[in-house]
Amino acid sequence: MQFVPTEDPLWSPLPQGTDDAVSSPRAHAVLDLAQWRAACANWPPGLPVALALENTVDVSGLGALLERVGLVVLQFPKWTDGRAYSQARLLHSRVGYRGLLRAAGDVIVDMLPLLQRNGFDEVQLRAGQSETEARKALHYFAGHYQDDVARAPVSADPERAARPRPALALAQRGRASLATRAHKTPGFEQRVAQALLLLRQAAQAHPGRIVQATSLGVEGMVITDLIARHGLPIDVATLDTGALHEKTLALIPALEQRYGIRVERFAPRAQDVQRFVQQHGPLAMRRSVELRHACCALRKLEPMQRLLQGRDAWITGLRREQSEHRAQVPLHETDRDGRSKYYPLAPWSEDDVWHYVQLHDVPYNLLHDQGFPSIGCQPCTRAVAPGEDFRAGRWWWEQDGQRECGLHGRPQPLAA
Ligand code: SF4
Repeated sequence: MQFVPTEDPLWSPLPQGTDDAVSSPRAHAVLDLAQWRAACANWPPGLPVALALENTVDVSGLGALLERVGLVVLQFPKWTDGRAYSQARLLHSRVGYRGLLRAAGDVIVDMLPLLQRNGFDEVQLRAGQSETEARKALHYFAGHYQDDVARAPVSADPERAARPRPALALAQRGRASLATRAHKTPGFEQRVAQALLLLRQAAQAHPGRIVQATSLGVEGMVITDLIARHGLPIDVATLDTGALHEKTLALIPALEQRYGIRVERFAPRAQDVQRFVQQHGPLAMRRSVELRHACCALRKLEPMQRLLQGRDAWITGLRREQSEHRAQVPLHETDRDGRSKYYPLAPWSEDDVWHYVQLHDVPYNLLHDQGFPSIGCQPCTRAVAPGEDFRAGRWWWEQDGQRECGLHGRPQPLAA
């Protein structure tokens, strides 16, 4: 659960009436329903927008209107008025809303357990309420008989995951591995601040020509969260190789709805894939390193060239700790084609990544909970055993220690 200050530094309302919403859309605006109805048809794609709803609104018919909304703010005019709990439940379980949900208004500490169980992600406490007490309140009750509200499967609220499941459902209790992976280590805040500074500088240095190339692994999700949370003008794009896990693909709409951004997708050319599969079979990559590289070339490298076309700079989530081959990853370098390449998470540990995910409830691929530390195409990724190397599940049949696909060839580091 996130606690948002009364003066929200990110999201702010537009003046009342529909004129500004229609004529002057801006990022991270909070609109009321009338404003959003008037403005949504012409709202610029990718511009983050939030919707504030009175607790009298019937949310059941809002599905289409919420597709591009990254945050819904539900109002508690009095703490004794529980209509917003019902709205929250409906939004998640019937309407299928997958963005963030915030409780605002007369929100007091005692409401926290119920807010959490009804699927709220953020709260703005009433003035004078203590955040420390509110955090404690999240642990008032160790068990309950009814299940929590159904949430989007890719969402990972660690507090929710770590809580005991309802007494009647204990037999189906799942793994709460995020809670066990996330640890705060010394210097975490500094590393986050450094990553954010690097992203800001990169965005300033390459206006309109910079992209985050995300594989939708957990590091990529953290970077997208940093970009969206701070409203940085950086595009987000991914490669849809045609062989990705369903759970990976599900993250694309999840990101778009959660943050109100557009994730650009670059797929291989259909005729190249067809020809390769006809010639070599669907599992050719297992027969030789050369065939594997050929498959990566047509499914990844060629689409990557299109992804980077017209761009001066790109951002990736490689970390030094991930493998020997990545141990020297700098914060910034020039790639082999002369583009700037940024690695904001280079010095981060795995603990840092998962702690950030826990702290900000960043959506992530549930395969990470099933033993997949690194996730690529389905035929080329398997779970690893405890203690195995981070990359051990990628192309595990190969003897070549690098096990890279060629997207991250190592060029000359730039002077700091
Ligand atoms: S990871 Fe496997 S399926 Fe994906 S492009 Fe490379 S060889 Fe092909």
